[in-house]
Amino acid sequence: MLWFTGLSGSGKSTIAVRVYQDLLDRGVAAEYIDGDALREVFPNTGFTRAEREEHLRRTGYMASRLAAHGITVIASFVSPYRESREFIRKLCGNFVEIYVATPLDECERRDVKGLYARARRGEIQNFTGIDDPYEPPEHPELILDTRVVSVDESVAKVLEHFGERV
Ligand code: ADP
Repeated sequence: MLWFTGLSGSGKSTIAVRVYQDLLDRGVAAEYIDGDALREVFPNTGFTRAEREEHLRRTGYMASRLAAHGITVIASFVSPYRESREFIRKLCGNFVEIYVATPLDECERRDVKGLYARARRGEIQNFTGIDDPYEPPEHPELILDTRVVSVDESVAKVLEHFGERV
């Protein structure tokens, strides 16, 4: 389980999709799961602490079952709470936490989906980094700050560190 966590716009899905594609090209049985995409499948998932925790328990549990059967799961979730991530770590034999540590000001400058501007205007509540906390991992297996490492370098680092485990 390669679990990407970090603020919205930090670069999780950009890097994770590239890793996923590389594994598929090498014939590895892999699956990519993305927090936003799963929210579309479960449209009533909200953003309060309790709802986020529930979302992660559900999706993390299902992902851990795939991983238990030999699928390499590449997961991209803001997953802001330490406890939720630790819950999933405990379910998985081989959990690799990749902290995409791009700081808030850079994520907000990119504002890929215009969500930070909306959160600042008060149009979105419980937005991670603005009015909801992000609890950084204490002992992630890998830290990527995309201000200083390119997409290519980030993908290479992930594959270099963990490619042989899959
Ligand atoms: P997240 O999945 O964390 O919400 P996205 O991957 O959707 O973030 O968006 C990150 C944005 O940052 C993309 O537009 C991407 O092109 C840009 N970006 C700039 N530099 C990097 C980098 N080194 N690594 C990853 N993304 C980067």
